[in-house]
Amino acid sequence: MSSVPQSLYRDEGIVLRTQKLGEADRIITVLTRRTGKVRAVAKGVRRTKSKFGARLEPFSHVDLQLYTGRNLDIVSQAESIRAYGPGIAGDYRAYTAGTAVLETADRLTAEEKEPSLRMFLLVVGALRTLAEGEKPPTLVLDAFLLRAMSVAGWEPALGDCARCGEAGPHRHFSVPAGGSVCPSCRPTGSSMPSPVTIELMEALLSGDWARAEASQGTNRREGSGLVAALLQWHLERGLRSLPLVDRT
Ligand SMILES: [Zn+2]
Repeated sequence: MSSVPQSLYRDEGIVLRTQKLGEADRIITVLTRRTGKVRAVAKGVRRTKSKFGARLEPFSHVDLQLYTGRNLDIVSQAESIRAYGPGIAGDYRAYTAGTAVLETADRLTAEEKEPSLRMFLLVVGALRTLAEGEKPPTLVLDAFLLRAMSVAGWEPALGDCARCGEAGPHRHFSVPAGGSVCPSCRPTGSSMPSPVTIELMEALLSGDWARAEASQGTNRREGSGLVAALLQWHLERGLRSLPLVDRT
């Protein structure tokens, strides 16, 4: 008689989502540093005396030991590295932005166990910044969304024409075309956002916080609208959390 040994592995990750399973268990979705997105069963986690305690909650950065299962892996150990939840949940704007970060990360990593170190680092960076509370949450979210699209291969064109590459800046912007478009490529229905808004989006994409934080509310709102429209264009189903982001 031979039995297939379960293989044990260790990784760290951010808990993106949890779902109830049966009476006491939970399925957790974790974006890990090395393995990519993993769905795993945490047994007994809903019992008051669970050995995992409150460690396996969304926004938590945890060190995990897992067994490879037939369908879902099984969490055998969980140690907290850092819980971003308490810092984020105290501010409603940060909480709604953080929820959109987690949902976007989940949706953009469609394939399980496909390593994406860049996405992992983007999520950790966004949650840390939201928990610190020193930057406007909507700017942190939009910077994350722009970079996450870039990691997914959908970096918006914010200078040169999205279609032919002609050197910009261009006045017209087309969501289906993927960003700024020159006069000859411009599809019908293109909009003409403020050039200052496009500059803000460039600053967010490149991490130029001095420029981004000097922006005005009107440009922030226009930029958020364009970022959301670009992201929704690429996703089959819209994000549930994005319309709920508190932008007051
Ligand atoms: Zn063009």
